[in-house]
Amino acid sequence: MNNRDCITGKSLSRNDLIELLSLENPEEIEQLRKNAENILLSERGNQVYFRGLIEFSNICRNDCYYCGIRKSNNKVKRYSLSEKQVVDAALWCAKQGYGSIVLQSGERNDSEFVDTVERLVYVIKEKTVSAQLPDGLGITLCVGEHTFETYKRFFAAGAHRYLLRIETSSEDLFSRLHPQTQKIQSRIDCLKYLKEIGYFVGTGVMIGMPGQTIESLADDILFFKKTGVDMIGMGPYIPHSDTPLGEKEPSGYNNLLLSLKMIAVTRLVLKDINIAATTALQALKHNGRELGLRFGANVVMPQLTPKEVRKEYMLYDGKPCTEESRDDCSVCLKKRILSTGRIISLNNWGDRVRMGNDQP
Ligand code: SAH
Repeated sequence: MNNRDCITGKSLSRNDLIELLSLENPEEIEQLRKNAENILLSERGNQVYFRGLIEFSNICRNDCYYCGIRKSNNKVKRYSLSEKQVVDAALWCAKQGYGSIVLQSGERNDSEFVDTVERLVYVIKEKTVSAQLPDGLGITLCVGEHTFETYKRFFAAGAHRYLLRIETSSEDLFSRLHPQTQKIQSRIDCLKYLKEIGYFVGTGVMIGMPGQTIESLADDILFFKKTGVDMIGMGPYIPHSDTPLGEKEPSGYNNLLLSLKMIAVTRLVLKDINIAATTALQALKHNGRELGLRFGANVVMPQLTPKEVRKEYMLYDGKPCTEESRDDCSVCLKKRILSTGRIISLNNWGDRVRMGNDQP
């Protein structure tokens, strides 16, 4: 397939995706970038949406081999923010005009945790209704695998988006990245529940993990399509030295470039969805997030986690922005976005508009 043809509307085959993800020639990569950017601009315009990120707890029952806050990493000081800390961060976000927040944490499924999340959503919704935001802040949850009933409770409390990364759609690779007790099928089931309930559903993968292939990444994009997602949050895999995977050989890929190509190709396939330029891109290059936007992303997630605990939410080594305050992050990110020629959309949830047949 000709790279120049990929915006003609024909549906891309698996081989096309592999070919595009394999591009190495800088001119061809620039063409791919432009094609993705053009699709974004025509489908969604040049607005960038903010999702203020609050990492409210790093306590986790899972033991993913790549993740810095895995249960077995006993070097991590565990924390949970108080309700007041989370609500204050949300109110600050609303005041900035960010429009939406993401509440993220390690995975727990005990009733105390479920009650806490439900209450946080309810209280934040209640306190953020204003003339600018008549329905309050848009709330995305990113708190892992739960039962259908629990997801329903969170939805009833007012969360309308949910982010659950599949991490990889390859069953074989998934099983090499997680203990036996964590199953890919359980994550797939959760994505189904979330859609059925009516959430805007997001997923995503890590890019450039040991043992991952270009073919497998192409399959990930086909998985996003099959799942009918509204949002994607994905970024480069970055080793964490206190994890089992951190000791393994790197994949040999240029994970930044591969991540940018993944963003662009995902944009070509799923034209009107929201795609985040994730923080991990910036861990690999100072302007990584701007590059993400230029390759077809349209969402950024400014850090709102209180500075005192940011260092305890180290998913990978060298996670950026752990020394900055939320005010620093706000100023810095605005500059970064404007440098790409895009505009910032304030006081707006910024959801994708669903068409008739993709209603849950
Ligand atoms: N417990 C929640 C949130 C997990 S942390 C959930 O499972 O949904 C958010 C994401 O960080 C993970 O989904 C994973 O994709 C990413 N992450 C973890 N370790 C990483 C690493 N070493 N490099 C890059 N991303 C990582």
